[in-house]
Amino acid sequence: MTATVRKQRVVGWLVAAVGICAVLTVGLLIRAGSNSSDAPRDLMGSEALAAALAPDGSLAIEAGTTDVIVVIGCTVRKDRMSVYGHDRETTPFLEALAAKAVRFEHAFAQAPWTRPSMGAWLTGRWPRAHQLDNPKPVRLSNRALPPDATTLAERLESQGYRTIGVVANPNLNTRFGFAQGFEVYDEPDKLWREELDTVAGTDIVRSFMDAVDDTPEGQPIYGRLVFVDTHAPRSPSKKFRRRFGMAQATRKGRRLASYDASMLQLDQLLADLFVGMHERGRNVLFVFAADHGEGLNVPRRHGVGHGNHLYPSTTAVPWIMHHPALPDPGRSIEGLAMGVDLHPTLLELLGLEAQPDLDGQSLADTVLGEDAHTGREFAYAETFFRKSHKSAIYGEEHYLIRDHALPSDDTSFTDKLFATTDWKARNDQRTKAPDAYARLADALDAWESSMETVQAAAGAPLEIDPRESTMKQLKALGYVD
Ligand SMILES: [Zn+2]
Repeated sequence: MTATVRKQRVVGWLVAAVGICAVLTVGLLIRAGSNSSDAPRDLMGSEALAAALAPDGSLAIEAGTTDVIVVIGCTVRKDRMSVYGHDRETTPFLEALAAKAVRFEHAFAQAPWTRPSMGAWLTGRWPRAHQLDNPKPVRLSNRALPPDATTLAERLESQGYRTIGVVANPNLNTRFGFAQGFEVYDEPDKLWREELDTVAGTDIVRSFMDAVDDTPEGQPIYGRLVFVDTHAPRSPSKKFRRRFGMAQATRKGRRLASYDASMLQLDQLLADLFVGMHERGRNVLFVFAADHGEGLNVPRRHGVGHGNHLYPSTTAVPWIMHHPALPDPGRSIEGLAMGVDLHPTLLELLGLEAQPDLDGQSLADTVLGEDAHTGREFAYAETFFRKSHKSAIYGEEHYLIRDHALPSDDTSFTDKLFATTDWKARNDQRTKAPDAYARLADALDAWESSMETVQAAAGAPLEIDPRESTMKQLKALGYVD
């Protein structure tokens, strides 16, 4: 090869490389733009927000007149929220809301990924009761919430509520059984395995508000909204990216800055939703929680995403409840709470009877200020995500994570005990705190064997073929009209 030819080739490669970069950059800009075309209203410090948060003694919580809005932030990591102590201001609206609301300080999701955790939040039953997560061999990615599960939407629909579901996470699509009980259900067109893209939170709020505006006069509303703004791939709008200095950050810093910016974006969407309901004169019991957090490689052993681990980075979750009639606003509720507790808690607050077979317990007394402490001794979670099998028990002073050997016919496991203050799970405390270890290990043994009973009673898992061609089957099964 002559020097000239070599030079031409180098120039050719450079031109091609620049071209590819340009295409990628344009692609990324288009992609970022798809989620940022219209940022939520800037309501912080506004009269509209102050009016929406003002106490109103004329309103009561009762079935038939109180709207129930359950908002789940998918992949919301609690320690990245300023309302739970993060030093960057990522959740100014939730801070303002919490000052007028009650919040659980120690709530845990029952699984570190969407479907089993959401099944628990919405039905009050363990994930295994619906076979949404359990030992193989059925592919977890095809598990669906069975038609005999009783969801909050079904309970409230039977009370005359207009039930409106708007979800940005395709794991909750109709085909997976999560539209049960909804009159209106807006869901992504494609699964993430088909198209890795996310639905913008602004579209979730707009779609929900449109359905609210279509609701007949006087009819109460149950809304369930699920946002994925903090779920990868994140593309917070420029306004929020700038706030956290994303352009100047290092690679690791950029991931965290992008996450924090997405959290702020979600927070501002919640403000928009909350104020929007108040502007429409609705009497709302507003709930914000998360189905799980995110590892973010902080620290590295927690992994970057979620599903495989049970560290508090993915299982400790926010849970905030607001209604103008709740006594002593600004309260923090001590004691442990779980996702399975939401369903019975909401029913009792509304004056409705919960089904007798629930695994969660009503925490209505603590929400109403009659009890200061939930009285729960432990919270539990487990996962069978991809190639993991782990279980965990969370107490007031320690938590224990059990890593089971694979394949599942091998019954050996490794335990690690951590102080609850050690949320990064750095120092195994088994030898330093043998009594605590024995107590938590015994309780986890008992819970794990109870899960086998729950699973045996549940029968065969419902596995669906998630391709479009199976929609007929889903119709036949009663999932879709
Ligand atoms: Zn999720």
